[in-house]
Amino acid sequence: MTQIFYNSTRNNQIKVSAAEAIVRGIAEDGGLFVPSQMPTINLDWEILKDASYQDVACLVLSAFFTDFTQDEIKECVNNAYDAKFDTLDIAPIRSIDNNTYLLELFHGNTIAFKDMALSILPYLMTIAAKKLELKEEIVILTATSGDTGKAALAGFANVTNTKIIVFYPEDGVSEIQKLQMVTQVGNNTKVIAVKGNFDDAQSMVKSIFSDTQLKADLLTKGYRLSSANSINIGRLIPQIIYYIYAYAQLIKCGKIVAADKIDIVVPTGNFGNILAAYLAKQLGLPVRKFVCASNQNNVLVDFFNNGIYDRRRPFYLTNSPSMDILISSNLERLLYFITNRNVEKIKLWMEELQEKGYYQLSDEDKNQLVEFYSNDADDNETGKAIQEVYTNAKEVIDPHTAVAYSVYKKYLEHQKGESLPTVIAATASPYKFPKSVMSSFAEIEGNTSESDLIDQLHQRSQVKIPDAIKDIFEMPIIHQDVVEISNMKQAVIGFLS
Ligand SMILES: *Cc1c(COP(=O)(O)O)cnc(C)c1O
Repeated sequence: MTQIFYNSTRNNQIKVSAAEAIVRGIAEDGGLFVPSQMPTINLDWEILKDASYQDVACLVLSAFFTDFTQDEIKECVNNAYDAKFDTLDIAPIRSIDNNTYLLELFHGNTIAFKDMALSILPYLMTIAAKKLELKEEIVILTATSGDTGKAALAGFANVTNTKIIVFYPEDGVSEIQKLQMVTQVGNNTKVIAVKGNFDDAQSMVKSIFSDTQLKADLLTKGYRLSSANSINIGRLIPQIIYYIYAYAQLIKCGKIVAADKIDIVVPTGNFGNILAAYLAKQLGLPVRKFVCASNQNNVLVDFFNNGIYDRRRPFYLTNSPSMDILISSNLERLLYFITNRNVEKIKLWMEELQEKGYYQLSDEDKNQLVEFYSNDADDNETGKAIQEVYTNAKEVIDPHTAVAYSVYKKYLEHQKGESLPTVIAATASPYKFPKSVMSSFAEIEGNTSESDLIDQLHQRSQVKIPDAIKDIFEMPIIHQDVVEISNMKQAVIGFLS
């Protein structure tokens, strides 16, 4: 098997093992780790169509994390994808019309797609730390737009030799998302609200990671910082699994035969989920188009349409808060691949983004983006999509999935009817956003509580209320800290002393 190393998107001379890339989270030059080459995986669909999720997971992860033994990978996979998920399929597909399937990525602990990778990351990280014979405790530092926070907390709570600190935008998450985080138990956990948006928090976390003085100070105290955001390669690679699994399921149910092309639609924020689909194609998954769906924060739509990434624009709080992002970190990895690993270009673009707020691709580089289609949906269109899917298929979808559905409809119009079997990434359970979901069906009376809305949602969808939120209104609030963005670093130091 080919040995895979990890380079930085900003320096091809940096070359580390998977274990090191996972523990470090981000390269020391601020770049993101990327595989030194694409592994070859034998995608034998005759076998894969009957393979379990865990089988597909072992296949993908062992091809990328070549410094892990088969037994180590298997242990991680079996610990991660177990009865925490409320379905044996782990990530089932569900048909909503003749050609369209939801890929349900919300059957884990915290009912959002972040569980798909964050269920396994703590196991990968613990084994990686052992391999590298690290003595220090690992401190996971995470900025969240709503869902990563809780999924990372659930994954790392009470994991020995780790601590986890989560920063979330005080006014930028749903009521349920917030409750899920602030009620988190576990001695090694800390949740802090910040006065700012996700981009502010993510930028500050990245700058803490590149603060060499702070890192050195923490090392002498026995702490090593790492990341659970999708900048960590240990999150990105596990997300490839479900696209391959979904394709195998489409074969199994007779919708397609091997080598048939499909379209994939992804509601996008930090560009991690859709990038995993792109990597799946590099491994041989037959995909025609990647449909990149944005909400009103449509910086990516402009990027795919005119080749200019420009973050100088208003930031909107929308009904799909996990996509309220203007700086999509993982796009840096796509740029690296489409420029054929041209680190000089990447460095320049990232400097321009930092200093001027925008960068522009050449026509030649922009032509490499033809596999992507991108469009946006606002809150009003999102609500309509929730209604439409309910009317047609009796499925209640969440607002993020609804953004994807709405953009998919625009894509079909653009394609003029040439529709292929399509997989839409369904990224959260509607129970995480009862207010937005129920207000798409009818105006909500002023005094209706969140828990009443959950009951109404239950009556409409007939889907069991997930354990993840059943008792959430009765649980004690444990985390109450609020800090300014400029005090985040101090808060980290404070928690660790
Ligand atoms: C994180 C998230 C997204 C965006 O995914 P990215 O990988 O950041 O593009 C979409 N929907 C939900 C529900 C999420 O939690």
